[in-house]
Amino acid sequence: PRSRLPHVGTTIFSTMSALAQQHGAVNLGQGFPDFDCDPALIAAVHQAMLAGMNQYPLMPGVPALREAVAAKIETLHGRHYDAGSEITITAGATQAIFTALLAIVHPGDEVIVLEPCYDSYAANIELAGGRVVRVALRAEDFRPDFAAIAAALTPRTRAIVINTPHNPSATIWSAAEMAQLQALLASTEVMVISDEVYEHMVFDQQQHQSVARFPGLAERSFIVSSFGKTYHVTGWKVGYVAAPAALTREFRKVHQYNVFTVNPAVQQGLAQYMSDPAPYVQLPDFYQRKRDLFRQGLAGTGLRLLPSEGSYFQCVDYSALPAHAQRSDTEFSEWLTRELRVAAIPISAFQARGEHSRVVRFCFAKKDETLQLALQRLAALA
Ligand code: PMP
Ligand code: GLN
Repeated sequence: PRSRLPHVGTTIFSTMSALAQQHGAVNLGQGFPDFDCDPALIAAVHQAMLAGMNQYPLMPGVPALREAVAAKIETLHGRHYDAGSEITITAGATQAIFTALLAIVHPGDEVIVLEPCYDSYAANIELAGGRVVRVALRAEDFRPDFAAIAAALTPRTRAIVINTPHNPSATIWSAAEMAQLQALLASTEVMVISDEVYEHMVFDQQQHQSVARFPGLAERSFIVSSFGKTYHVTGWKVGYVAAPAALTREFRKVHQYNVFTVNPAVQQGLAQYMSDPAPYVQLPDFYQRKRDLFRQGLAGTGLRLLPSEGSYFQCVDYSALPAHAQRSDTEFSEWLTRELRVAAIPISAFQARGEHSRVVRFCFAKKDETLQLALQRLAALA
């Protein structure tokens, strides 16, 4: 058949995980924890299954979970979302983003993405019939370049996709940057898809700046998050979308026809588990400790450590290593996986084909012993 996505192959995450397995490498590539979730969460899901929550729940999601999400957003960010008409439970953040794009993009509409960015955005925009407008984050620090974003806005711009904390760079947007985006969009009809899946992983006493805190953004935004990241259950694929009622109405029109609804026992278990905020309140400390352990271990390898302000990623620039400076980031990631047996993800996988960086991404959502083993192996770089 004539391909809808002729330039798309297998995602870098599947490719690098397969290569890691083939070489017995420590997999710091694909982003997922190698430790299990809290058994109390599994017990809550199990209990919900035994209690009979095994048939289709309501299309927008189990009410208790929508209410828990609304209450959390109000507590953390001070904006009220109505659980009935403004919160929808999705099959992970990936489906949420795709569904939002399908709901708002008309053929030929332009959607801005800030590169490097998560690899599903561009394919989703194309499948929705839109045109991907790629605006680079600043090369030196991966921060938004508002002059470049302003220059990319046209009368055809339907939406912009933003992501903080950011995959892959691990930067977070400041309140001032969010305010700048708000000011820039104020005179437009542009909508925002705000990918906030790492919302609870922000380090060094900084705060996550959700679009929910910025009324001029919130009114035009789909906020997307994922329970997979927050509760160490990436395989469950459950997330949510918070958006004003008019946007949610359009979102649900599509949602009802691409998944209709999501595993009810998992939703009920998550709702019960969320009644205690401790797990997400403690998450920054939990990951900051791992970040620091990993960063300390990399000192002396010759890799330049980029800041990791949030998410569970650490990016490194290897251009000061004479033996590797000529390699593309893809070649270097493959070499690391094959020869040092530590898998990483090349940043070029998050941007349009052809551009190569000298930066690779490691995921530190791993047991301390896994990180130690990776560090032992990476010490050979020095
Ligand atoms: N957005 C970003 C930035 C991500 O890193 C991920 C997880 N890889 C997702 C979306 C997808 O989340 P989910 O697994 O809930 O679909
Ligand atoms: N989001 C994860 C990452 O960035 C991987 C998700 C996936 O495998 N598609 O590593």
